[in-house]
Amino acid sequence: MNAPIRTNRPSLDAYWMPFTANRQFKAAPRLLVAAEGMHYTADDGRTVLDGTAGLWCVNAGHGRRRIAEAVERQLATLDFAPSFQMGHPAAFAFAERLAAVAPGPDGQRLDRVFFTGSGSESVDTALKIALAYQRAIGQGTRTRLVGRERGYHGVGFGGITVGGLVNNRRVFPLLPGADHLRHTHDLARNAFVRGQPEHGAELADDLERMVALHGAETIAAVIVEPVAGSTGVLVPPLGYLERLREIATRHGILLIFDEVITGFGRLGAPFATDYFGVVPDLVTTAKGITNGTIPMGAVFAGRHVHDALMHGPEGAIELFHGYTYSGHPVACAAGLATLDIYEEEGLLTRATELQEVWHDAMHSLRGAPHVIDVRTIGMVAGIELDPRAGAPGSRAYDVFVDCFEKGLLIRVTGDIVALSPPLIAERADIDTMVSMLGDALKRAA
Ligand code: PMP
Repeated sequence: MNAPIRTNRPSLDAYWMPFTANRQFKAAPRLLVAAEGMHYTADDGRTVLDGTAGLWCVNAGHGRRRIAEAVERQLATLDFAPSFQMGHPAAFAFAERLAAVAPGPDGQRLDRVFFTGSGSESVDTALKIALAYQRAIGQGTRTRLVGRERGYHGVGFGGITVGGLVNNRRVFPLLPGADHLRHTHDLARNAFVRGQPEHGAELADDLERMVALHGAETIAAVIVEPVAGSTGVLVPPLGYLERLREIATRHGILLIFDEVITGFGRLGAPFATDYFGVVPDLVTTAKGITNGTIPMGAVFAGRHVHDALMHGPEGAIELFHGYTYSGHPVACAAGLATLDIYEEEGLLTRATELQEVWHDAMHSLRGAPHVIDVRTIGMVAGIELDPRAGAPGSRAYDVFVDCFEKGLLIRVTGDIVALSPPLIAERADIDTMVSMLGDALKRAA
C-alpha cells in the first residue's frame, strides 16, 4: 500500500460534514487516506479492516486498477457530454450491460434503465416515474405514496417523505398524503435468526388496511427496502414480500424495491429481487453500481412501466425529469469496469459461498456483553445491543470508536452495529472482524 503516513492534517473548519456531529468530530477526527483490497489506511498510518464496504458500496474491494484505468481513459476521451437530447456511447453501453443483469427473471426483467447520481436521486426518480405512470394509464387520482416505518430512502423530499427515519423527517415539510406500513422489527418473536425470520408476514396486510382507509384509487406506489439496511438490518419475514406484491398488484399499486444497499450481490444474488424471487415494478440502485468509486445511481423499470410512458404525442418528452450528471461518461466507464470485475470474479453470487462462514461468525457473538440480537442475511449482519439507560445509541457509538481505534471499521445506527464487508472477503477477514468486534464488546462491558 503506498499510503502517505501521517499526512498534514487539514483544517477541519470549512468542510460541513454530512450526517456528522461536526463539533464532536473535530474534537476526535477520524481520517482515511488510502485504501486497498479489504483495508483502509488512517492518517496516522494504521491499517483499518473495512467491515462495511465503505458505506455498503465497495463490493469488489478497494483500489481496483481496472476501474481507475477505465476512468482515466474515459476522462481523456470524453470527460462530459450533455445528458439531455444528446447521448454518448458509454451510457448506452452501460445501460445495455445493466439490462442483461437487471433485477427479475427472464421475461420479467426490469431492463429499462434511468441513470441518476445517487441513491437519493434514484428514489425520487422512481417515485416520479410511479406517479407519471399512474397518470399515463389514466389513474391520475393515484398520488399517494406509501413507505414503511424505519425505512431509509435517502434525503430528497420524496425519500424523506416515504422514509421512516424520524430525525430525517422532523424538521422538514413533507409531500402530502403519504402513509407508512409498520416496520417488521420484532425482537420478541424473531431474535437471533439466520436469514428470514418466521414471524411477521401479516404486517404486509397494512397495505390492505390503507386501501380500505384511503381508497386504492388514491395510492400510486409502495416503496420498501427488501432488507432495510441503514436503520439496523431488518430482514423481511418469510412470505412478507410475496404478500406485499400480491396486495399491490390486486389494487393497481406499483411496488418499488429500494435496492441501493441490496443491489449488486450483497445477498448472494445480483439483486434482492432475485434473491427473494419477488418482482417489483421499479428498483432503485446506487452505491455498488460503480463499486463506490464515482457517484452514480440507476432506476430499473419494468417494461410495462416504461412502455406506458412512451405513448404521448410524437416529439413529446415522456418523463420531464433528469440530471446534468445522468449517465455521466466517467461514471458509466467506472460502472462498466465494475460489472466486468463483478462478473469475472463471480462477486454477484459470491455471498452464497461465504454466508455459512459469515453467519456462523456473526452468531458466535450471541452471548457477548449487551448483545440482544444477531441477524444475518447474505453478507450483511445486524448486531443489536441493549441501550444504555438514558443514553440510547451511546453504547454502540463507543463500540464504533473503539473498533476504529483498534483497526476495524463498523457502522452503527442507534444501538445496532451493522456489518457488510466487501464481497472479496476471505474467511480470515471474517474471523478477524468477529474477534475484534467481540473484544470491543467485552471492553464496552
Ligand atoms: N436508499 C437506501 C436503501 C440507502 O441505503 C441509501 C443510502 N444509504 C439511500 C437510499 C440514499 O443513497 P445516497 O446516500 O447515495 O443518496
